Amino acid sequence: MAEYSKIESALIHGGIYGDAATGAVNVPIYQTSTYEQPELGRNSGWEYSRTGNPTRAALEALIAELEGGTAGFAFGSGMAAITAVLSLFQAGDRVIISSNVYGGTFRVLDKVFRNFGLGYEIVDTTDLQLLEARITPEVKAILVESPANPLLTVTDLAGVARIAKAHGVLSIVDNTFMTPYLQRPIALGIDIVLHSATKYLGGHSDLIAGLVVVNDDALAERMAFIQNATGGVLGPFDSFLLIRGIKTLGVRLDRHVANAECAAAFLQLHKAVKKVYYPGLPDAQGYEVNRRQAKNGGAMISFELHKNYDVRRFFRSLRLIALAESLGGVESLVCHPASMTHASIPKDIRDRVGITDGLIRLSIGIENIDDLLQDLERAIEESEVR
Ligand SMILES: *Cc1c(COP(=O)(O)O)cnc(C)c1O
Repeated sequence: MAEYSKIESALIHGGIYGDAATGAVNVPIYQTSTYEQPELGRNSGWEYSRTGNPTRAALEALIAELEGGTAGFAFGSGMAAITAVLSLFQAGDRVIISSNVYGGTFRVLDKVFRNFGLGYEIVDTTDLQLLEARITPEVKAILVESPANPLLTVTDLAGVARIAKAHGVLSIVDNTFMTPYLQRPIALGIDIVLHSATKYLGGHSDLIAGLVVVNDDALAERMAFIQNATGGVLGPFDSFLLIRGIKTLGVRLDRHVANAECAAAFLQLHKAVKKVYYPGLPDAQGYEVNRRQAKNGGAMISFELHKNYDVRRFFRSLRLIALAESLGGVESLVCHPASMTHASIPKDIRDRVGITDGLIRLSIGIENIDDLLQDLERAIEESEVR
C-alpha cells in the first residue's frame, strides 16, 4: 500500500493501484464480459461485467477515495449517473433542484421521471431560508450544483446539508464544475456526490462518463443494486481512460485556474465587457461562501459584452478558442448559453435570470495565457459595431 496524505498523491495512487499479478503500474483494461467459475456455486469474486469489472472497480474505488465517501459507481455518462441517483426515489416523491441545474438534469426530471410520478420543484438555493421553507413531506432530496451554470451561482453546501439532515431528506451535489480537487461536498455533510466525468475528471474531451459517490453503506447497497439492475455502466476501456485522466487532474486544474484568474481579471478591466461572472472575483455573488467551501473559483467564466458588440462576430473572430458544447478539457472552449445550453428556456425567463443574448461562457483551458488573452482581445475588438 502506498503511503500518502495529500490529494495530489491520491489522484495518482488512490483506489486500486497497479496490478498485483504482474506488477504493472497501471490497472489493466479487463476487456471481458464474463469470468469462468471454478465450479457450480463458486466464483472468483467476479461474475459478469455489468455487475462488476476490475478496471471499473479500480475507478470506483478511486473516486470514492477522492471524494471521501465509502463507495463509488461508474456510469456510461453523467446523465446515466444522474438517472441512477434519481432511481432511488418513487412515485409521489419530490426532488428540489436549484434554479440553474444542468439542462439535462431538468430535462430528465421533466420529461422522463415525471411520467413515473416523481415530482420536482425549482428553488433558488442561494437563499437557504427559501429552500427550507419549500420542504414539504413529499420532498425526499435536494439536488444542487455550486458553482452552477452559466452564471456561476454559488450555493452554501454545508447549509444545504444541514437543512437536508434536519428534515430527513437526502442532499445531492453535482460536483462536475469543481471536482474533488477543488471542493469535497461529503466533508461538508452532503450525502451523494455525482459527476459528469466527461468534463474535468476525464479532462481531454475524449470520453463520456459519469460517477456517483455515497457515504453510507445502506445507500451504497441501494446504488449498487440500481447500477446492476438498470445497467448504465462504464466500459473497461473508458474506465481506464478516466483513471489516466484523473492522475493529472491536480496539475491540469492548477493551470486551468491560474489561466482563469488571469482571464477574469482581464475581462473585468476591459471596456467592452459589461459584467464578468466568476466566483473567484471578490465582487462575485457567493464569493465568501465559495471561499469557505472550495479551494478557489475554478476555471469557468461567463461574461457579457456591452450592446455595441456583436456576439456572433465575436465567436466568428476567435482563432484559438473553439466554439463547442462541453467544458473541462485541456483546450479552451466557448459557448453561447442563450442559443446552445439554455435554448430550451423561454427568452423572457432567460433575460430575467441574466442569461441574455450577449452572455458568453468560457471553459478556460491550459494553453499559454498570452495566446488566450490575445485571442479574446482580437475577437472583442473585431466584434465592435462602429
Ligand atoms: C455535462 C454535464 C452533465 C451531463 O453529463 P454527460 O456526461 O454529458 O452525460 C451533468 N451535469 C453537469 C454540471 C454537466 O456539466
